[in-house]
Amino acid sequence: MLNIGCHVSSSNGYTQMIKDTLYIDGNTLQWFSRNPKSGQAKEVDLTDLEEFNKKRVEYGFVNIICHAPYSLNLSSDKEKNRDFAREIFKSDLELLEKIPNSYYNFHPGNHMNQGIEVAIDKIIEILNEVIFENQKTIILLETMAGKGTEVGSCFSELKNIIDKIKYKDKIGVCLDTCHVSDAGYDIISDLDSVLDEFDKIIGLDRLKAIHLNDSMNPMGSHKDRHEKIGKGYIGIDAINKIINNPRLKNLPFILETPNDLEGYKEEIKLLRGLSK
Ligand code: FE
Ligand code: FE
Ligand code: ZN
Repeated sequence: MLNIGCHVSSSNGYTQMIKDTLYIDGNTLQWFSRNPKSGQAKEVDLTDLEEFNKKRVEYGFVNIICHAPYSLNLSSDKEKNRDFAREIFKSDLELLEKIPNSYYNFHPGNHMNQGIEVAIDKIIEILNEVIFENQKTIILLETMAGKGTEVGSCFSELKNIIDKIKYKDKIGVCLDTCHVSDAGYDIISDLDSVLDEFDKIIGLDRLKAIHLNDSMNPMGSHKDRHEKIGKGYIGIDAINKIINNPRLKNLPFILETPNDLEGYKEEIKLLRGLSK
């Protein structure tokens, strides 16, 4: 069965995320640990969290993804911003220890014209400070579109980060289909070659999740504007091949398309119909 869900709002608590996911016929989900722009977090309601954990098991939700705020920049040129990123990372990882089978997905960083290599070293430094030995959560580096000074729009940049992580078993990758297409990887007409390249450079065993999005822009545009499934440049044929690819089909797929719950429900219906 296709493991699919969408990005759900966490503003009405944890159990509401389960209700929303069941409503759209999902069996996995992604949520923001805090306000995606400001990084502010609400106080954790432990009763709600306990209920959430119980229900998740009951409904067979496999790995779920927590998305770090966009405002995090581990490779900032300002130490103040890196301190902020470090603190958020630490406190989110601490919270996620209470949520079994979690992935913590984040955007590797923006190099702010310091150059990719300096940025990569800064990212590695913080990751090695915050990842701890007995941690249950796997951290996911998201593949990026290469907008502005984003780090992580080519597989080798992600590999260079992973190579220097002390606890390598705590790190994986989340492939965003809109981002990789915008970054210039031809998942539209040659998915298998892109996966071969991923495997050669990073290793497919590191690939833990897919952000399933269409793109408003053609391959290589470096724009990062998500489109509804089948309405963009990636298109339904390529998306059909992605969800049915033997190397991908068992991963959790998360929709981050511009939709309300009704729209997600329709997309999931369409995708479940295509899934073999
Ligand atoms: Fe993201
Ligand atoms: Fe994404
Ligand atoms: Zn995006």
